[in-house]
Amino acid sequence: MFLSDSEKKTVSKICDALRKNKNFILTSHQVPDGDGLGCELAFFWILQRLGKKALVINELLPPRVYSFLPGFSEVLPFDAYKEKEFIPDAAMVFDCSSKDRVGKPLLLIPESATVINIDHHQGNSLFGDVNWVCKNRSSVGEMSFFIANYLGLLDKRVAECLYVSILTDTGSFRHNFNSDTINVVSELLKTGIDPENIADNVYHNNSLQALKLLGYALISLQYEPTFKVAWSVLSEQIFKKIGATEQDIELVIDILRSVEKTDFVFIVKERRDEIKFSLRSRKHFNVRKIAENFGGGGHNSAAGFSIRNCTLELAIEEFFRYLRKNITDSD
Ligand code: 5GP
Ligand code: MN
Repeated sequence: MFLSDSEKKTVSKICDALRKNKNFILTSHQVPDGDGLGCELAFFWILQRLGKKALVINELLPPRVYSFLPGFSEVLPFDAYKEKEFIPDAAMVFDCSSKDRVGKPLLLIPESATVINIDHHQGNSLFGDVNWVCKNRSSVGEMSFFIANYLGLLDKRVAECLYVSILTDTGSFRHNFNSDTINVVSELLKTGIDPENIADNVYHNNSLQALKLLGYALISLQYEPTFKVAWSVLSEQIFKKIGATEQDIELVIDILRSVEKTDFVFIVKERRDEIKFSLRSRKHFNVRKIAENFGGGGHNSAAGFSIRNCTLELAIEEFFRYLRKNITDSD
């Protein structure tokens, strides 16, 4: 159902690897988003039912808004991991275009382990022993549905996790989805999950810190009509002052995207030793191309990059220099 023949082969290969191995590491990019986390937790439950041991670990904790998901309390940040006896023979890596996006949890994956790479980023480096990369899929959650379904292990818990993957990676069904996505969602809904309750948990659960961060971002909101771009800068000081975390910027960037007459928006964030740019586009503007020019990557509609050893002012100057040279009205 909705899979090409070659995809069917890959799904069956992944399922073989799930059956064959015993101890799994489930991971995603350093700070997992709804898609990465949804997949980690879906497979946490699937592997339990297959009688396997699964450790869900990320470099940092996932956003708190997802704490309603079944299994959230099982997710470990790397620094809290102490167990010595757990020797993984396989790892599932979700939503990562390259291995280094995983960060510290890589240290726990032995050379001998079978790495299963499931992703939907264009330009994935195919770092796994088994790779399923499909840039036309809305989310890794959409892809994971087929594995759960193949194994006959799609239950309500798994469906709830995968629904969150799809809901969040499509921006609540606003972008990057097609009729396949809706068909998958239809199967997920048949398990009895409650989409209204899930949306309420995901979107009406903002921390005060995230809202205060939004306040600061809106005060410093800027707009450049030449490039139809809206943007804002968030210094490390602001993050410290209000106790906001990196993840709190998702809300900010979502609101920025609503500014009228914009092709794309970006947030510049000051980190200890780098300046991080998060870019989001509207319509069909490609922000991945811009991010790649600065050594980053992502999707056409959501991308990012970092500039090291540079001040905030110089990084922004360099960014606009690039825009002046490369972005024209016809883009
Ligand atoms: P965010 O702005 O939320 O950090 O990232 C948006 C998208 O761009 C995500 O899909 C993320 O994987 C990708 N991305 C962000 N920063 C980088 C980067 O430095 N390198 C690469 N390759 N991808 C990035
Ligand atoms: Mn994703």
